[in-house]
Amino acid sequence: MSVASSFTQAPDTSGHYGTFGGRFVPETLVAALDELTEEYQKAQADPAFQSELQQLLREFVGRETPLYFAERWTEELGGARIYLKREDLLHTGAHKINNALGQILLAKRLGKKRIIAETGAGQHGVATATVAARFGMECIVYMGAIDMERQRLNVNRMQLMGAEVRGVESGQKTLKEAVNEALRDWVTNVRSTHYILGSALGPHPYPMMVRDFHRIIGVEARRQILEREEQLPDLLVACVGGGSNAIGLFHPFLDDEGVRMVGVEAGGHGIQKGEHAARFQGGKLGVLQGTKTWLLANDDGQIELTHSVSAGLDYAAVGPEHAWLQSEGRVEYTYATDDEALAAFKSLAETEGIIPALETSHALAYVRKVAGDMNPDQIIVVNLSGRGDKDVEQASKYLLPES
Ligand SMILES: *Cc1c(COP(=O)(O)O)cnc(C)c1O
Repeated sequence: MSVASSFTQAPDTSGHYGTFGGRFVPETLVAALDELTEEYQKAQADPAFQSELQQLLREFVGRETPLYFAERWTEELGGARIYLKREDLLHTGAHKINNALGQILLAKRLGKKRIIAETGAGQHGVATATVAARFGMECIVYMGAIDMERQRLNVNRMQLMGAEVRGVESGQKTLKEAVNEALRDWVTNVRSTHYILGSALGPHPYPMMVRDFHRIIGVEARRQILEREEQLPDLLVACVGGGSNAIGLFHPFLDDEGVRMVGVEAGGHGIQKGEHAARFQGGKLGVLQGTKTWLLANDDGQIELTHSVSAGLDYAAVGPEHAWLQSEGRVEYTYATDDEALAAFKSLAETEGIIPALETSHALAYVRKVAGDMNPDQIIVVNLSGRGDKDVEQASKYLLPES
């Protein structure tokens, strides 16, 4: 077996990706996570589950998404041919619904009637509220009080679909505290409740399960680029918060040795303490919210403040599979600053008529840096993880200062 073919074998049965991952949870959750793992494996092998999932992905979510040749942006950057995987066109506006849908079908199989979730910017909360409404389940979304103020529109979207949004007032009142509250709720109500975790994070089996529900992004992109160009891409690019859209795109290509992959984290105001969320830039190995991975912490292990213009990348830990792929040298990780992301946001909007999410704009910023140094016979595929409607107000503050 070549080294490369082992990249798709992880995790092992205990949820480890090399030394990363695993399951660091209170005793009360172990049985629930075992039950979830077992049911997930049964569902994967069940044609009825797969066909219901496929049908809903097609008719409710809007798959498959186009792989779009960005003709004018390619011309402007003057190098590699750039393709956009259009996850922004999905129902609710981002890739997150792929995972939310898969998990609610699992919840149904498990006989759970109550759904909980955490959310930062509100995109995962909206995706969860959407599938909960579709399946007639009770839905409670934990959200930091500060994020609720910043993302009023998404709070209202969740409420309009019948979800209860519970504001979290502890700590920094943002995503990390919302995850803590969701875990606390789950410990208390584990028999009736399924926790739809929103990224490739948390205790096993979540990082694996969330990845698998997003693999369709890369499976489609691989087929689409081969049909269109009769060759594999030279470079894949995606932004990395927890890492779900990136691992979804990358995973089906991991064994293709010639395909380079770059994950782009949030560089915020630059790499100084408290000013960014780039875990691979000086992060420490530690455990946060159930998994062992790289995190931004001080010497005492206290989690540091993070900052990004995009709430969806503003989190102190990275998914454990990314930590492993980086340690193995298979995937490279870099960062884009707030300013670079905003410039890329503007650039794509003006040349392609597509307003990307600010999260996605970090991936686009990296493409802007490297495309011009590549040749026109080379191909870049970038995951357009979400649309920027939610970011219009914030981006306008920076980009349209006179208005
Ligand atoms: C939530 C979000 C992200 C970051 O989450 P990942 O799990 O790293 O993908 C990226 N892009 C968009 C549009 C998002 O909504």
